[in-house]
Amino acid sequence: MIDYLIVGQGIAGTLMGYFLQKAGKQIHVVDNDSPRSSSKHAAGIINPVTGRRFVKSWRIEDLMPFAHRTYQTIEKEFDIQVFEHIPLIRTLYDQNDRNNWMLRITDPGYEEYMDGKAELGPYEGHLHPAFSYGQTLQTARLDVPAFIAHFRRYWESRGAYSTTQLSIEDLDIQEEGVSWGGLQARQVICCEGSWGKQNPYFSYLPFRGAKGEVLEVEIPDANFDRILKRKVFVVPLQNGNYWIGTTNTNWFTHEMPTLEGKAELVEKLKAFLKLDFEIVAHHSAIRPTVKDRRPFIGAHPVHPRLGIFNGLGTKGASLGPFWADHYVKHLLHGSDLDPEVDIRRYPYPPAE
Ligand SMILES: Cc1cc2nc3c(=O)[nH]c(=O)nc-3n(C[C@H](O)[C@H](O)[C@H](O)COP(=O)(O)OP(=O)(O)OC[C@H]3O[C@@H](n4cnc5c(N)ncnc54)[C@H](O)[C@@H]3O)c2cc1C
Repeated sequence: MIDYLIVGQGIAGTLMGYFLQKAGKQIHVVDNDSPRSSSKHAAGIINPVTGRRFVKSWRIEDLMPFAHRTYQTIEKEFDIQVFEHIPLIRTLYDQNDRNNWMLRITDPGYEEYMDGKAELGPYEGHLHPAFSYGQTLQTARLDVPAFIAHFRRYWESRGAYSTTQLSIEDLDIQEEGVSWGGLQARQVICCEGSWGKQNPYFSYLPFRGAKGEVLEVEIPDANFDRILKRKVFVVPLQNGNYWIGTTNTNWFTHEMPTLEGKAELVEKLKAFLKLDFEIVAHHSAIRPTVKDRRPFIGAHPVHPRLGIFNGLGTKGASLGPFWADHYVKHLLHGSDLDPEVDIRRYPYPPAE
């Protein structure tokens, strides 16, 4: 019997597997290799100050240093390169924006995350004029596709990985563990991203889902070395291309890329970039967003052998490490789950 069967290998399942294995637990990971996985298309930006009002992300003081440390430790342990500190330039569109930015810097605890001056660097001369720019400090990026691909190969080479769809109905849940196929595990952890809402055991949780479309473009005359936000993000990729994204909608009828999404991204990019570009790829994915914007962590109220780690929403790269570690400590040492992320904040059975 193994200790943990992990269903889904996006950022959530990968980090659960990593921390559990590091603690000496035997794991097996199952993933259906869907091309629509959110982690496969995320830019992986870790950004302490977000939104139009320039506010610090929830619990960023805890989350960000922990995320940085975790990814850097993983890089060392496995001799891989998936994480980088990278400047992020934000466009300030008018005087009001500029005033808000400058005022926010004076708020306690903001100075270390924001700068009123911004260096455009290699973007200089290649952009149509904007009112002004600011720079977010301590920003970083996880190469999410490379990160999950590394762990997939690692677990595959140890016989701890299955590439297949796991039908939750096929789980045989008993008192002392769960069987699936020929495998027996003490506990199953469901890390299914936006597909979590179809999981019959956890569909009572208030999943939302926000669709995002992105482009990968080649810009032959560019040598951009930092992230720019101007309606869309321009993110330099390892292969020399650029990630352009993203659209964001809560109302969608399917998960596939659309012509409208592509047109929106192209229009926004053309509005400020003077250089020609060529579209190399166009993708879409559903972010696992949640009504109260807090992760879903914990055991099913009636079936304690089934756990969930989900709801990382728009910020899997920054939320993932801290909360995976938090959950693993709860599983292994019985420490309390933070009530803000504990799924017991939602009644079960759900009210009609
Ligand atoms: C366009 C876009 C841009 C983003 N940019 C950023 C960013 O810059 N920074 C950031 O922090 N976050 C970003 N995000 C959000 C981030 O992608 C998510 O928070 C994170 O990837 C969620 O990870 P997850 O593991 O919960 O879900 P997923 O990545 O969706 O992984 C779930 C996995 O489980 C598999 N699966 C599901 N059910 C089953 C089953 N029954 N059997 C087998 N396999 C199953 C799926 O195929 C998938 O591989 C972005 C998201 C999108 C869509």
